[in-house]
Amino acid sequence: MEKPLQATEAQHLILHSVIALGVETVQLDQSVGRVLAQEIHANRDLPPYDVSAMDGFALRSADLAGVPVVLEIIEDIKAGDLPGKILQTGQCARIMTGAPVPVGADAVIRVEETQEAGATAVRINKAVKPGNDIRLRGENMKDGDVVLTAGTEITPGVIGVLATVKAARFSVFRRPRVAILSTGNELEGMDEAVDLNKIPNANSYALMAQVQALGIEPVLLGIARDDPAELEQYLKRGLEYDVLLVSGGTSVGVHDYVRPTIEKLGVEMKFWRLAIRPGHPLAFGTTHKTAVFGLPGNPVSSMVCFEQFVIPALRQMMGNKRLYRRTVTARVAHDVKFRPGRTEFIRVQLTRDDNGYIASSTGTQSSGVLLSMARADGLMVIPSDSTGLAAGAQVVVQLLDGTVFQEAAGFFD
Ligand code: AMP
Ligand code: MG
Repeated sequence: MEKPLQATEAQHLILHSVIALGVETVQLDQSVGRVLAQEIHANRDLPPYDVSAMDGFALRSADLAGVPVVLEIIEDIKAGDLPGKILQTGQCARIMTGAPVPVGADAVIRVEETQEAGATAVRINKAVKPGNDIRLRGENMKDGDVVLTAGTEITPGVIGVLATVKAARFSVFRRPRVAILSTGNELEGMDEAVDLNKIPNANSYALMAQVQALGIEPVLLGIARDDPAELEQYLKRGLEYDVLLVSGGTSVGVHDYVRPTIEKLGVEMKFWRLAIRPGHPLAFGTTHKTAVFGLPGNPVSSMVCFEQFVIPALRQMMGNKRLYRRTVTARVAHDVKFRPGRTEFIRVQLTRDDNGYIASSTGTQSSGVLLSMARADGLMVIPSDSTGLAAGAQVVVQLLDGTVFQEAAGFFD
């Protein structure tokens, strides 16, 4: 039997086998979470002229040499107004944030540094330098500037920039079409009556939610029995998608038909054993159009494999540059016994004290116990060459939710 792959090797192999999908046009109001497939340019100078950064008075800074001084107010300029007058020595204009600075003025002083001195005059109590509280024309962006590059993830801040440059429609990377298939004679569907001899199909739904959390709406193909002919029918349908996730049936039991059947259907297998825990019988293969993941049937293994291997692949297909879950460093709350050889992912809860995060196991780490996954904030990564950890040791924890990802993988082996 082949030597199992280390987690990093498997990740590299997968990422070399999938590429960013095509592009499509979306509307601004439907684009959050997508990845830009084009450059975006500024369509004007912003601000369009020098504007005030404060509510206050526009004035000539040279007039303030002998503060306090009293200046004549020659006009009121609100945001949206254009100044009507040129400022002369001894004069100022009342000005609101965002309003254009009149010709002749070279600084703004905030209203808090002034006092009323009659209806058309103001006392200025403090000197300011030229340019004080003025936002210069084009300081924000200049006409024609590249403001966003292809590959930018569209966050709310990015949406604000797109709206600023009036980009109502633009091109983004297409999302993969993902199908999910569960396999096993023992499985009980969501809409079937409870049968105590059966195992409820948790995996289709946990995987569905993991896919949805990436902004992709997957298609559930249902449950295929452990029968080569039935499996073949389901797998054929699955191979019409960009990505097919098959749960169960990938190990080496006599009724584990997934691998031989997908090979028969033309899938080129890249690997089927991994040195990780949980999640050891993970299979991966490709056709010219579909990436196929044979995920372990054990519910936690299936979810952990999705985290480590499917997420980076899906994100790469969507044009993301940050492929991996965000990691934090933490101190482990308790000793961890460990036999080197496989990268291990331990379900943990995170708490904080003055010195940072503390990771503690959520309970039994059996790969069948979904409750300890449901309680977890993250996966603590134990590198394959570790010989165990003492309480207080520093560890890396991959966060299990959130929309912010990172460029570096969260584990090293
Ligand atoms: P397998 O990988 O098919 O040998 O399955 C390993 C274990 O995972 C068995 O105990 C299965 O009953 C369980 N299992 C397989 N598929 C699912 C599923 N869709 N939902 C919940 N448990 C499953
Ligand atoms: Mg099975």
